[in-house]
Amino acid sequence: MKRYSVFAIAREALRQHRGWERAWGSPEPANSYDAVIVGAGGHGLATAYYLGKNHGITNVAVLDKGWLGGGNTGRNTTIIRSNYLQDPSAAIYEKARSLYETLSQELNYNIMFSPRGVMMLAQTEHEVRGYLRTERANALQGVETRFISAQEVKRLVPIIRLDGPRYPVLGALWQPRAGTARHDAVAWGYARACASMGMHVIQNCAVTGIEAVGGQVTAVNTTKGTIGCKKLGLVVAGHSGALADMAGFRLPVESVALQALVSEPIKPIMDVVVMANTVHGYMSQSDKGEMVIGGGADHFNNYTQRGSWQHVEETVRALCETFPMLSRLKMLRQWGGIVDMTGDRSPIISKTPLEGCFINCGWGTGGFKAIPGSGWAMAELMARGNSPLAEAFSMYRFREGRFIDESVAAGVAH
Ligand SMILES: Cc1cc2nc3c(=O)[nH]c(=O)nc-3n(C[C@H](O)[C@H](O)[C@H](O)COP(=O)(O)OP(=O)(O)OC[C@H]3O[C@@H](n4cnc5c(N)ncnc54)[C@H](O)[C@@H]3O)c2cc1C
Repeated sequence: MKRYSVFAIAREALRQHRGWERAWGSPEPANSYDAVIVGAGGHGLATAYYLGKNHGITNVAVLDKGWLGGGNTGRNTTIIRSNYLQDPSAAIYEKARSLYETLSQELNYNIMFSPRGVMMLAQTEHEVRGYLRTERANALQGVETRFISAQEVKRLVPIIRLDGPRYPVLGALWQPRAGTARHDAVAWGYARACASMGMHVIQNCAVTGIEAVGGQVTAVNTTKGTIGCKKLGLVVAGHSGALADMAGFRLPVESVALQALVSEPIKPIMDVVVMANTVHGYMSQSDKGEMVIGGGADHFNNYTQRGSWQHVEETVRALCETFPMLSRLKMLRQWGGIVDMTGDRSPIISKTPLEGCFINCGWGTGGFKAIPGSGWAMAELMARGNSPLAEAFSMYRFREGRFIDESVAAGVAH
């Protein structure tokens, strides 16, 4: 695969851009692979990438029922942060955040990582106490965060209203090296890197069944035929329950729609990400100038990838209290993604009862930020049988009562 560089742009400019190669091919499935990954979202593609890069396993296929990055990876609001309370969470999210810092250079693909800083507003005394606690935990975990005063919040975000009608801003937990990245580019960058290692990224190939002999996975049935595999990784977010069913086990995961919306583009007004968990909304400004707004998840299980009026009204009304200027903006688009929620709002990276079959899911409303760390850990687990980063996230923790209760740490988990 030819490298993207300033010289490549100059060369192609001189020959009317006729020499660019396809970033990834459209291969037909082979009869079998050493590893098959189901789900070409960020987590599936990153798993394949680190299987090749860290463990030399390149006879790999990544299968997706739709187009790559067409699931939640291409539908999220792109917040990247690692200011979690619990040690296992901070470890994997900080690993991911630090990999994001140099991912563009590593993949030779501009993922537009923007470490513009993320602040989580404290709007009740309870939140102040919670974030002071998280700040201290982060210091021990080696995650750089700081509790900042309301005045400093105002300095960083001049459009904010500190004395909201219901909840005044009392301060914020500030992570200066957190930020955003271009979500599609993360999927595309990993896909291109996988293809350049000789892996097959196969789109429009839905997995419809899983075959096993003597308790060991042997193949997957797909809409493009049966494909043999020695190892199988299930990385399908909101469809994890359905795939687990095919593999013969049950998961403590519920699927619900999570929605987001964007406003019309305006001039730059906010160069950090603000999360207001008490009123339940968060906002950043995209490079195009749109205000990117997200709220909570639906309160009922569903598989819709659509938005609803109720959410627009609920989220925008809440954010208008803290950002009154929002009331004068037109909202342009809204959409939804199917997120996979576990009871303790923490992910699953785990072996399963089916030998050779591994699962990565449960990232719920906040898995975009974890993609590089999650792929790193899942690849290690698949290649070596264990991974220090994944250890606490086994699916058996629900049976054994070892919850990683991040839901107490943040009302919104993005
Ligand atoms: C509106 C919204 C906002 C969000 N905001 C943030 C945020 O700001 N920050 C953050 O960190 N996270 C956020 N998230 C969460 C984040 O998007 C997800 O956790 C993450 O993208 C999950 O990635 P994934 O690769 O696991 O899943 P996906 O990207 O959903 O990929 C799973 C893939 O599996 C495929 N698949 C499913 N079933 C099959 C099958 N039978 N056969 C083959 N393929 C199959 C699907 O087609 C899909 O492409 C948000 C999510 C949503 C919906």
